[in-house]
Amino acid sequence: MTLMTTPQLLSPLSIRGREFRNRVIMGSMHTGLEDSLDDIPKLAAYFKERAEGGVAAIVTGGYAPTLAGNLTPYGLPFDNEDISDAHRAVTSAVHDGGALAILQLLHSGRYGYHPMAKSASDTQSPISPFPASALTEEEIWDTINAYATAASYAARAGYDGVQIMGSEGYLINQFLAARTNSREDNWGGSVEKRQNFPVEIVKAVRAAVPDDFIVDYRISVLELVEDGQTQEEVFALASRLEEAGVDMFSSGIGWHEAKIPTIVTSVPRAAFTWATKALREHVSVPVVASNRINTADVAENVLADGHADFVSMARPLLADAQFVNRVAAGDAQLINHCIACNQACLDHTFSNKRSTCLVNPRACYETELVLGPTRTTKNVGVIGAGVAGLFAAEALAERGHKVTVFEAANRAGGQFQLAMRIPGKEEFVSTLTAVQERLKRADVYIEYGQRKTPEELLEQGFDEVIVATGVSPRIPKFEGVEDGLAGRLLDADGQGVQVITYADLISGKKQAGQAVAVIGAGGIGFDVAEFLLDAPVAQPGETASSATDASSEQDYVPHPQSIDEWRTQWGVVDSTDVVGNLGRPQPHKAPRQIVMLQRKTSSLGKGLGKTTGWVHRAAVLMGGALQVPGVSYEKVAKDGLHITVPSDSRALKYLFGGGDAGEQAAAKAAEAAAAEGQDRIAITLPVDTVVLCTGQESVRPEGWEPTAPEKSDDLSAEWASEGASSDASSNAAPEPASNTHDPRVHIIGGADVAAELDAKRAIRQAVETAAKI
Ligand code: NAP
Ligand code: SF4
Repeated sequence: MTLMTTPQLLSPLSIRGREFRNRVIMGSMHTGLEDSLDDIPKLAAYFKERAEGGVAAIVTGGYAPTLAGNLTPYGLPFDNEDISDAHRAVTSAVHDGGALAILQLLHSGRYGYHPMAKSASDTQSPISPFPASALTEEEIWDTINAYATAASYAARAGYDGVQIMGSEGYLINQFLAARTNSREDNWGGSVEKRQNFPVEIVKAVRAAVPDDFIVDYRISVLELVEDGQTQEEVFALASRLEEAGVDMFSSGIGWHEAKIPTIVTSVPRAAFTWATKALREHVSVPVVASNRINTADVAENVLADGHADFVSMARPLLADAQFVNRVAAGDAQLINHCIACNQACLDHTFSNKRSTCLVNPRACYETELVLGPTRTTKNVGVIGAGVAGLFAAEALAERGHKVTVFEAANRAGGQFQLAMRIPGKEEFVSTLTAVQERLKRADVYIEYGQRKTPEELLEQGFDEVIVATGVSPRIPKFEGVEDGLAGRLLDADGQGVQVITYADLISGKKQAGQAVAVIGAGGIGFDVAEFLLDAPVAQPGETASSATDASSEQDYVPHPQSIDEWRTQWGVVDSTDVVGNLGRPQPHKAPRQIVMLQRKTSSLGKGLGKTTGWVHRAAVLMGGALQVPGVSYEKVAKDGLHITVPSDSRALKYLFGGGDAGEQAAAKAAEAAAAEGQDRIAITLPVDTVVLCTGQESVRPEGWEPTAPEKSDDLSAEWASEGASSDASSNAAPEPASNTHDPRVHIIGGADVAAELDAKRAIRQAVETAAKI
């Protein structure tokens, strides 16, 4: 639903005499541009675009008050005049754009990825290889004073306020929780004493800054870890902090080490604002809600329902700098929504690469990836309306070219059409609907049912052609696969085994039965496993969908999980006296048996996103899917899938049915194999469906090959080093492969290189190609 109006979202509010022109704050997010003074112009340009896009205030990425508080060894603490002076460029850029600028002060504590890490006690976080040592009494006071000094440097740099990071499991949070604070002095031993550290920090900061300077405190409204705080403790803390001088509270949700997802796509929108509302009832200053607020409707409802006074959005503003302006203009349907994939932002941050955005590769590259107006308007034909083609068309039109898109199917979206059918990824649909709306506004038309070749378009008079024809599923070559795909392993009554591709399964063309083997455990193998946790079980003879390809796609209606369902699944309770708000998870069990297979011997899902992979692995495990590495595929036959596995495989006992009986059978089979000098065991999986998730192959018009087919390896290396330096060229997508015979043709996305294809690379290559035409 698109709201006709957003009265709450667009209404101003003043704090300490400084006006927030509306209720949207760009939340803090580390981009990688914070760590070098040389990158300040890029940081300023990135913020300027967001300020000009209409947000009320921008909170920077975290800056440490001391060296020990750095997140990485390369960080720049905000502790001297040089950095304060350099940041005048940032504050001017934000102010020129009409927004307020707030500097976040973040001491990493035991999350510091370096040997100098300090915490409340001697401790080590499960997500860092470096143990942290306890701050001494003297060091505690030095740290408190360092916060005050950093805040005064922020005021000197022209910031309107600071945000003190007290959540997400960083140092202040480590003082607040019994989980990490075992002190018995003035800073630990009781709830009240554990709270002394943040209270003293706020007092010191307030005393060090001008009267009209805003002190925002990011408070952990939900901890989501064992031995964390209860909400009641958080309310008591908030009262003390307010008395000490806090002007507003921003919400933090969960520690980074929490085993409950808080920001990925599968978390329902606005899933945690009930906790912000609870805090709001205990304080008299404004509060800010955050996490999974990414549409104008959701944001307006959060405010209208009294859950918060502001909404904080970080990733949604990476995705679309014009978010607020579009809302103000009544054009919310044009917003390029953040799909919470983390692939180009947080996954980059946690790999020490510069952040950007999957759906907006210009984010954090504003000075380098420039879509300036073209000097010569060209007539450009784009073949393929997957995301690569659509985003190329948009960027070309923005530069002033005349663009027409030709799509062989009857709808746009390509691989995104499949992704949005995966439970938890339903909102990927918004990327497609919004980009198509924007194309309409730019007078770019998509001609459906048109399978064109570059030659045809050039003959028709197009000046340049972009080939974005995407990928098709790779079919592995072992015995029985072709027969299974053709239905030749099924009896007349539908008994036997069918082999289907992930594309046919997800699009609804084919259905899976009661016992399913998933071959290939990359991103799509996991997507398919999650799809199978929900999809109804087809009975023998019903495996081919009765709906046609086209109608099943048109009928598709997303049913994202409700907040209540999601909380029940993960065990998040709304009880103010429960430690960490942790309850008993009640996962949804699959209606079928699922076994996931891969040839690699490493554990499954290793290659998934750094910040999202664990959620997919947990969901599939909770659903009861069996995961088997080290598999060799022998054949598919009417009795099932024949494989061999290493005789020491930990999955063996489950492959033999699990429990004591499975363990005994596995031991017996291993013994028998050993007696014959074998280190592998042959097993027939009695499945009725085999789903192929074995990667993709490029789809290209005949005769059009990439100029450098071996580039697939170079490509991985190039993208592996992405963001490692601030040099734009090392971050660039590979040069588009053009047919050597005709430089007017540009092959992009999966059509160029299928290996490791993801939408991040496809969209970036599309926009970079458009920038050069
Ligand atoms: P992928 O990551 O390359 O995985 C395909 C897997 O199939 C391989 O890991 C390989 O594993 C197996 N395989 C390949 N060829 C095979 C063969 N001939 N016979 C048997 N097994 C074979 O590809 P994908 O899963 O299709 O994903 C495509 C891209 O989309 C990836 O870049 C992925 O990261 C991205 N994506 C990501 C997500 C996510 O992060 N959630 C979701 C969807 C897609 P073994 O060799 O070990 O068997
Ligand atoms: Fe959102 Fe994904 Fe872009 Fe990050 S990369 S801002 S999660 S769309």
